[in-house]
Amino acid sequence: MSRRSLSKGQRIDVLAAASGVCHICGDRINPVRERWEVEHVIPLALGGSDDVENMRPAHRACHAGKTRRDVGVIAKAKRVAQKHAGTFRPARHKLPPSRPLPGTKASGLRKKLNGSFEPHPTRTR
Ligand SMILES: [Zn+2]
Repeated sequence: MSRRSLSKGQRIDVLAAASGVCHICGDRINPVRERWEVEHVIPLALGGSDDVENMRPAHRACHAGKTRRDVGVIAKAKRVAQKHAGTFRPARHKLPPSRPLPGTKASGLRKKLNGSFEPHPTRTR
């Protein structure tokens, strides 16, 4: 995915296709007096195409604001992609304070065949 620069003619086409209106604030762009840029309706990082159909004119100031907002959305999309790729590492669960597992030597008890318990011989010795 490469970001190619538009020719002057293509820039004019984008502006004309939007009838000279900023895609973000909806106000008219005066191309002589105001700085304006061609922006991607769907950001490239979110899979938007680099074709003229995905491009609209916007004031430079409006465009800067949208790019700042898009950064969070793009970061989230990357986290989701990571999870789907199996590289997402969730926080590890903390085990509760350990108690010896009942019936093990560590419990210090042993269960007899009649169901009663007695101190484990290895512990009492
Ligand atoms: Zn604007």
